[in-house]
Amino acid sequence: MAGEKQDGSFLRIEVVDPDGLVFEGDVAMVVIPAAYGEIGILPKHAPLVAKLDIGELRVKTLNNQWMSLAVAEGFVLVQLDRVIVLADAAELATEIDEERAVRARDRALANLAMIKEGKAPTGAGQDKLYPFREQTALKRQLNRLKVLRRA
Ligand code: ATP
Repeated sequence: MAGEKQDGSFLRIEVVDPDGLVFEGDVAMVVIPAAYGEIGILPKHAPLVAKLDIGELRVKTLNNQWMSLAVAEGFVLVQLDRVIVLADAAELATEIDEERAVRARDRALANLAMIKEGKAPTGAGQDKLYPFREQTALKRQLNRLKVLRRA
């Protein structure tokens, strides 16, 4: 029956980032942005461990509503109708601060423009990973800006 919880017809999901629990609930379906493409998880899914990419994690509630979270890199574990998402950062679409994401996006774009001109961004010091770091920062902010439109 739609909107009603029946044994074996739902998944328990927990999304955790370094600050703690971001979302938990009993849901009908989860779509994970895994490193090798999206994975749809329904109840009774086979056990799985997958690497998480920066992307949109979608959850279908027991009332057939879709909700979205922006997630950064991490891992997902699926076992016995439990989905555990451990992400470097995760936010519900409704909780994304747009101005903050725009500021951080523009900062990453400015730093990438400096790198293109052969200059290291302020504060990069001897760190040779900064181009990769700035590209990742940009990807995270663009993802937040995309996901917040789902709110
Ligand atoms: P900023 O420079 O704005 O801090 P950042 O890229 O350094 O952005 P992250 O390292 O990706 O931020 O995330 C740090 C923490 O802040 C995480 O807990 C993340 O969920 C949260 N966070 C980052 N940006 C936003 C945002 N725009 N809205 C809501 N939460 C955010």
